[in-house]
Amino acid sequence: MRVFKFGGASVKSAEAVRNLEGILSQYAGEKLVVVVSAMGKMTNKLEQIVECYKNQEDWNVHFDEFERFHTEIVEELGGLNLGAQAQMVQFLGELRSLLKEEPSQNPKLDYDRIVSFGELLSTTIVHGYLEKSNDRVEWLDVRNVIITDRDHGRADVDWDRSMRGAGLLDHHLNEGETDILVTQGFIGSSTLGNTTTLGREGSDFSAAILGYLCDAQDVTIWKDVAGMLNADPKWFNNTVVLEEVSYREALELSYYGASVIHPKTIKPLQNKEIPLYVKSFLDPSAPGTTIHSKVADAKPVPSYIFKPDQVLIS
Ligand code: ASP
Repeated sequence: MRVFKFGGASVKSAEAVRNLEGILSQYAGEKLVVVVSAMGKMTNKLEQIVECYKNQEDWNVHFDEFERFHTEIVEELGGLNLGAQAQMVQFLGELRSLLKEEPSQNPKLDYDRIVSFGELLSTTIVHGYLEKSNDRVEWLDVRNVIITDRDHGRADVDWDRSMRGAGLLDHHLNEGETDILVTQGFIGSSTLGNTTTLGREGSDFSAAILGYLCDAQDVTIWKDVAGMLNADPKWFNNTVVLEEVSYREALELSYYGASVIHPKTIKPLQNKEIPLYVKSFLDPSAPGTTIHSKVADAKPVPSYIFKPDQVLIS
């Protein structure tokens, strides 16, 4: 079984969703867990809604934008099957009702409950679109698998409890008729059953968690860049794609600010020696970067991380 993660940019429009389908069609017959982030910049939009909600200001304009963004994509995709359409209407209705309630005593809990709708909607749309031409696709609520503590906004994974949820993945993919399981990045559920989030940009980590839980053959993060580069092209000319990187080096690069992968992604994969690929969804046949333990250090490439406005106190 393989885990694929698609971030916001890879599902930001109807065309992007079609491109995602094209990539998956290259892996026909394989068992895939497809982890999807909120579409485009929809988590930012939801954060604006949270701000209004918290301050008891009018959130309707932002909500309408959020709703329109998704419905336009669905229209451009030629609609969804009835089930997916109904699920989308239900999620939008749930979000609206939630926003009509008084804020709770815990703003971070409210934040998680609201922003999670980005991933709930994106996966509903991606699943609904894929199932129009493939009946071996299923939607999974990842909150039944990834169980976390109650540190809302940046929850930590409860690995033991999540391990029990892993059976669900296995059940869907190995015992049933399903080839592609579409599920959410970024979100989980606390031991009390409340929605939690893993921190911004946390969907890479979700993919690694699921990869770990189901002993995946590999995990692939599909990005809008060619792979892990040796420097940020915004600041440096002549950057090169790192073909192979060790877990240790990838960990170091991501902690020091190479923003291509979320720093927490590496450790679970390293623990089980699951290779991590970073590939371009714009050029899926290009090799991208492989992060694993066996790296031949024949021709090391120096990497540069540029951090402006730093102060060093020694
Ligand atoms: N949608 C979330 C965010 O924008 C998580 C992710 O995309 O990784 O932070």
